Amino acid sequence: MDQATIPAHVVLLSSPGMGHIIPLASLAVCLTRHHGLSVTLISNTIPSNQQSLQDFLSFNQVKLIKLEEPNEPSPSSSNLNAESRIWQTIKSTMPHVHSKIKSIAKESHLSAIIFDPFYLDALDTAKELNIPCFLFFTTSCMALSFTFALPGLDKQFQDQSCDLPEPVQLPGCVPIRGIDLPDTVQDRTNEMYKGFLSGINRFKEVSGVLVNSYEELEPGPTKGLKEFKGMPHVYQVGPLIRTSLTTGPGQGKECLRWLDRQPQGSVVFVSFGSGGTLMWQQTKELALGLEMSEQQFLWVARYPNEKESSAYYFGSKDMQGQLNFLPEGFLTRTEKVGLVVPHWAPQVEILAHPAVGGFMTHCGWNSVLESLVHGVPLITWPLFAEKKMNAVLLTEDVKVAIRPKQDGSAMISRDEVSRVVRCLMKGKDAERLKQRAQELSREAVNTLEGGSSYKNLLQVTNLWKNSVV
Ligand code: UDP
Repeated sequence: MDQATIPAHVVLLSSPGMGHIIPLASLAVCLTRHHGLSVTLISNTIPSNQQSLQDFLSFNQVKLIKLEEPNEPSPSSSNLNAESRIWQTIKSTMPHVHSKIKSIAKESHLSAIIFDPFYLDALDTAKELNIPCFLFFTTSCMALSFTFALPGLDKQFQDQSCDLPEPVQLPGCVPIRGIDLPDTVQDRTNEMYKGFLSGINRFKEVSGVLVNSYEELEPGPTKGLKEFKGMPHVYQVGPLIRTSLTTGPGQGKECLRWLDRQPQGSVVFVSFGSGGTLMWQQTKELALGLEMSEQQFLWVARYPNEKESSAYYFGSKDMQGQLNFLPEGFLTRTEKVGLVVPHWAPQVEILAHPAVGGFMTHCGWNSVLESLVHGVPLITWPLFAEKKMNAVLLTEDVKVAIRPKQDGSAMISRDEVSRVVRCLMKGKDAERLKQRAQELSREAVNTLEGGSSYKNLLQVTNLWKNSVV
């Protein structure tokens, strides 16, 4: 084949966790479908129940290299939080990834390596092969801004805990209280924090950062990112979300049929991402609050966990499918207004359904984008990682969400659950939030169809294409 006709080839690296695989898979498909690139996606895990995602990738000519799935957590790792476990997995597979990329580079015109922040060590591979590399940032511009600012903040607040006297003010962003900063920085003596900080210092070595957000959603933070001198160029290329095509036949169809029988915009969808969990008492308060609200609901409920809020992140099979933890009589009392689905449901199809009028979410960035693309306003219930910062962005900056208040023991009471659900679904506030969500949905479509995100991705793919010949 003539050199000029060989398509540019890019390798995408995704760390474990649905929150990373889903946007990277969407980026991969966008690059093959709309930008004529040849793409290989290397992933640590695509859980075995995600066959439809694999079929979707192969249908769109994305080559998938699946690294070995980590087994159930080893006794030494079971006490670690989700982020630490991801780091551990990446570290163990890095040599394998390095040799895979080297063999791809031998066989094709590899023009770029793109990875999520957990895979920063792939920088060494890229340097050895002299191939440009790009970071794919899977959350918001605001979180990216915080990441860029962290080395400076670390020096400024050296001797203080995260209980900072003043909120942190990032360029173009609303102020953030110390308590709403990501989990990784809450304990600055922790090894995880030190690793995170030294990783950020390597951000300067990448050729650019692609971020899964859009300028219309985050105009302030987008502008603010330009103020960081010495940091790589940022390209807003989102919202890249999973499409409904990736749901397998029959999967979760019964809850979609239940939605078909509900009035338009009447249902609040309640779900905490791929691994989020609540404690026993909190699960009870949520159930009773939903019941008190007298609104229709569809709840993806997980077996409670007293120790961590991301207990199912690695797809643990413990107690999957059970609902015996719900308050006594709850299912019978609510059978006319609610449906409880154990463990997992086809979220994108649910959010796209006309019966859904609101989403109570743990604020995972994919969940946020999926909701906004479909014009659904939110209740923020942030659980772990950077989710509290996402809640601040959605409620105080974008103004498309309501955040429930915790009581003195960090619990969200049944009364508060009922209050926020009613507020999201009924009355003047509900109308305002709905209009804002619909506006963001229209902007999401426009930005991808020839608007700013499309142009930003075109700009960067042209760079890759031009480096081929
Ligand atoms: N998801 C789903 N069904 C579920 C739970 C989650 O399809 O029952 C999908 C959801 O649509 C999203 C992803 O899993 O694409 C979760 O990503 P997010 O960033 O929201 O949160 P994370 O799981 O990374 O905490």
